[in-house]
Amino acid sequence: DLVAYNAALSDEPFEVNKAFHQDPDPRKVNLGIGVYRSEQGEPWPLPVVQKAEQIIHQESDPSRHEYGAITGDEDFLSAARQLVFGPEDDGNRQELARVTSVQTISGTGANHLGAMFMAKRFKPTNVWLPEPTWSNHYTIWDFAGVKCRAYPYYNVNTQMLDFERMIEVLSTQAQRGDVIVLHACAHNPTGTDPTKDQWEQIAETCQKLRLAILFDSAYQGFATGDIDNDAWAIRHFFRRKPAMNLCVAQSFSKNFGLYGQRVGACHFAVDSSSIEDSVRSQLAYLIRAEYSMAPSWGAGIVKRVLLDPECYREWKQDLLTMSRRILKMRSALYSTLIELKTPGSWEHILSQVGMFSYTGLSPAQVSLMRQKHHIYMLKSGRISLSGLQPRNVVYVANCIDSVVRE
Ligand code: PMP
Repeated sequence: DLVAYNAALSDEPFEVNKAFHQDPDPRKVNLGIGVYRSEQGEPWPLPVVQKAEQIIHQESDPSRHEYGAITGDEDFLSAARQLVFGPEDDGNRQELARVTSVQTISGTGANHLGAMFMAKRFKPTNVWLPEPTWSNHYTIWDFAGVKCRAYPYYNVNTQMLDFERMIEVLSTQAQRGDVIVLHACAHNPTGTDPTKDQWEQIAETCQKLRLAILFDSAYQGFATGDIDNDAWAIRHFFRRKPAMNLCVAQSFSKNFGLYGQRVGACHFAVDSSSIEDSVRSQLAYLIRAEYSMAPSWGAGIVKRVLLDPECYREWKQDLLTMSRRILKMRSALYSTLIELKTPGSWEHILSQVGMFSYTGLSPAQVSLMRQKHHIYMLKSGRISLSGLQPRNVVYVANCIDSVVRE
């Protein structure tokens, strides 16, 4: 059946954002929407992106608005693939040849294409999603016709990864050939990632159960400011033997600030190189039926930055600017709560990574934050740290303190 989708009703971040904009109170703070904002609360087009745009404009290539290939721009895809799986050097060349990459309509499109492809090819009984997760995972997999099941991920009482229960539920309930969705880094919404040791155990469990894996990679470079570190889990799964069926849904929205340009890629590492050709043609079929090819403008910018050594260096600097500002806000929020002696433990604000923090505030406290203090956040207690600024972080901490004491 066709489902009615009203973003303001069905997707909480959109609803929170709308309510924020309608609020006339000058004290208001938007901690709802997951986009980067500068210290002044403004959108921040990356300097290196603006530089690449200028170069492309100056070149004024007459073919810049032509149709591209169905599967996307090969130079863009090669650079995107190396960002995920590591540089193509002698040690990695053969392994990279197992990967089929296609361009997608950002991370959402990559998740969707991955889901459609895996649903048809592997015919899983279930797809296992972390509890909690990005809500669109449910919409996407529901649309692909696969039954969604939740595996324990975050324990709200300990404010830590629910690791033992995660492994136990997967080991006892997942069926051979099921799909599991994992967040590559900076888990949305909890900001809580497994340790390297835990990743190894998760990989072993997936391998034992013959699960097909979909890594959702929307924050590479945001978690630690380091591209390679943030891809550690994916690369670990990729290198394990025997090879697993692995899909990576890659988004360039956050790490390039290209949200509305819809730049992404979907990479498939299959367990046997002999079937690589059929993967490419099956993906091309799905793409052709839906949108013929992904947009070229934003991918052209990303390609330029990744292929030009000077731009690449500048991009890494821009990533550090964003991730360091977020870290600064994390510690400012934490230290103000400690100074205020706010009841409860707040260590998790420091240990969580990426754009979000799962504060642990209850739905009633979240509601008070909004009604009384004009601070907007998700019912789960998730805040986007990029909504914090030097001028509002003390106000936010004071309001948290007051609702916790109420
Ligand atoms: N996956 C996760 C976990 C996300 O948080 C997001 C962005 N909110 C996406 C995928 C996709 O974003 P986009 O389609 O803009 O790339």
